[in-house]
Amino acid sequence: MTFRYPWRAGISLAMAVACTALVLVLPSVTQVLVDEVIDKHRGDLLVPTVLTAIGAIFVRQVLFTFRTYGNNALEQKLVHDLRLEVYNKLQRLPIKWFDSNSSGEIMSRVASDVPATDRVIVETIDQTIPAILQFFIIAGYMCYHSWQLTLVTLAPLPFIGCITYFYSRFAEPRWRESSEASAALNSLLHDNLSGIRQIKAYTVEPEALDRFGDASLNVGRKHMRVMKGQAMVWPGVSLLAESGIIIMMGFGAYWVLNAGMPKGIPMAFLVSWGFLFDPISRINTLTQLYLGGKVSAKRVFEVLDMLDETNLTEGDRPDVFKGKVEFDNAGFSYAPDAPAVRGLSLVAEPGMTVALVGPTGAGKSTVLNLLTRFYETDQGIILLDGHPIETLSKEWLRDNTGYVTQESFLFNTSLRDNLLLAKKDATDDEIWAALEAANAAGFVREMPQGLDSLAGERGVRFSGGEKQRLSIARALLKNPPLLLLDEATSALDNETERLVQAALETLRSDRTSFVIAHRLSTVRKADLICVLDDGKLVESGKHDDLLARGGLYAKLCAASLRE
Ligand code: ADP
Repeated sequence: MTFRYPWRAGISLAMAVACTALVLVLPSVTQVLVDEVIDKHRGDLLVPTVLTAIGAIFVRQVLFTFRTYGNNALEQKLVHDLRLEVYNKLQRLPIKWFDSNSSGEIMSRVASDVPATDRVIVETIDQTIPAILQFFIIAGYMCYHSWQLTLVTLAPLPFIGCITYFYSRFAEPRWRESSEASAALNSLLHDNLSGIRQIKAYTVEPEALDRFGDASLNVGRKHMRVMKGQAMVWPGVSLLAESGIIIMMGFGAYWVLNAGMPKGIPMAFLVSWGFLFDPISRINTLTQLYLGGKVSAKRVFEVLDMLDETNLTEGDRPDVFKGKVEFDNAGFSYAPDAPAVRGLSLVAEPGMTVALVGPTGAGKSTVLNLLTRFYETDQGIILLDGHPIETLSKEWLRDNTGYVTQESFLFNTSLRDNLLLAKKDATDDEIWAALEAANAAGFVREMPQGLDSLAGERGVRFSGGEKQRLSIARALLKNPPLLLLDEATSALDNETERLVQAALETLRSDRTSFVIAHRLSTVRKADLICVLDDGKLVESGKHDDLLARGGLYAKLCAASLRE
C-alpha cells in the first residue's frame, strides 16, 4: 500500500534515518569532553564541541517535527484508501454474507481494524526501521572504540531475543481473542441501539444492561490475559538489560585500571547504552502493535478476499424489458436440506399483478429475493422476457425493479436525497409529482423545511403510513417495469390505509407486480393469486375460483375475515 505513496514513504524514512544517525552526537560529545577537553586540557575545544552538539540536537528536533507531520499525513492517506477499499468491497458482497455477519462486527472491522492495519505500516517506517538502524549505528560506534566492551554490553541480547520470540507466540492468539471480544461488544451495542424502542417497550433495560455488562467484562478479561503475559515478560527484559549496564561499567572500570583504556570510552558507552537499549525497550510497544495489527489485518483481508457478488455489472442488458416473468420449477434453500421455495412454476405476463399469499414462513419473501437476485436459485430457472435471470447484469435487473419493503427504510438525510436514490437527476417538479401520486405531497408540504427536512435515523420522524407513502413515491420516481412489493402488515387507520392503497394502485398500474399481499382488497384485484405453503405453490388462480375451491386460500380468507 505504501507503494502508492513512494515519495511520502521515502521522505518519511529518510527523515527517520537522519534523526537516528544524529543519536551519535551525545556519546561522541561525552567522549571528546572527557578524553580531549578534560584529560588533555584542550579548553579551546570546549565551546565549539558544545555548540556543534547543540546545533545537531536542534536539527534533530526540527527533523522530528517534519517527521511527525509527514507520518501522520501518510497514515491518514493509507487509512482513507484502505477504508474506502473495504467499504467498496462490502457493497459488492452478496446479501448472504450479511446474514452471517452482524453490522456491529462489520463496523468494528472498518472503524478499528483498518487503522490498526495501517498503523503497522507507518510504524514500520517511523519506528521499526529507525530502531533497527539505531541499534546497528550505536553498536558499530561501540565496536569501533572497543569490541571487547561491546561484546559485554550486548551479552544479554540473545536472552532478550528468546523471551520476545516466545512471548509473541504466546500472545498472538490472546490478541485475537481480545480483538474478537471488542468486536462482539460493538456488535451488541449496535444491536441494542437499533432495538432501543423494543428494549424500552418490553422494559428489558436491566437484562440488556446485564448482557452489555457481560460483554464489557469479557473485553476486560481478554485484555488482561494479554497483559498478564506482558506484566511478567517486560520486567524480565528490563532486568536483563539493566544488569547489562552494571556489568559493562564493571568491565569498563577494570580495563581503564588495568589495560590503559581511555576513561572517555566507558563514559561514552554509558551514554550510548540508552540509545542501544532504547530500540529494545520499544520492542514492547512494537510487539503489541504488530500482534494487534496482524490480527486486524487478518480481519480486514478476510473481507477483501471474499468473492464479489457475481454478475454485478457484467451480464446482458436487454434494451427493453416488457415485464414478462416466468418461474420454471425454481427452487432455493438458505440452508442445506431446508428448501424455502420448491419447484415453483408460474407465468406473469407484462402488466399483471401477482399476489403471493400463504402462512408465515411459506416462502413469499424468498420469491421476491430471487427476483432481485439477492439470492440465486439453486434449482430450475427464472426467465425475464425469456432471458434466464442469471445471464442478466444484476445492475440492469435492479435498475428495472422497484422494491418496496414492509419496513420502509429512509436514510438519515433530507427527504430530497432519499427520493433521489431512485433517480439521481430527478427535478423537484418530478419529485413533487411522485409525492402527489403517492398521496405524500400533503404532509411533506406541511413540514417547515419541505423536501429539505431530515428523515431521522431509519426515518423515525415519520409515521409508518407516511414512510410507506414516501417509499411508494420513491418507486414511482424510479418508474420500473417490474415492481416487488411487500405490503405492510401493521394496521393503519382507515384514512391512511385508503391513502396508501390508492398510492399502491397508482404504483401497480401498467407494470408487472409481485405483491406479498396481506389485505383481502389487494388480493381480490390481483390478476393471479399464488398460494404458497411450505415453499410450494399449492393453488393459483383468481379470487372467486380459489374461494370456490375451498382449499388453503379459502381458509386463509376466512381467517382474515374473522380478524
Ligand atoms: P414468508 O415471507 O412467506 O414469511 P420467507 O420467504 O421469509 O417466508 O421464509 C421462508 C423460509 O426461509 C422460512 O422457513 C424462513 O425461516 C427461512 N428464511 C428466510 N430468510 C432466511 C435467511 N436469511 N436465512 C435462513 N433462512 C431464512
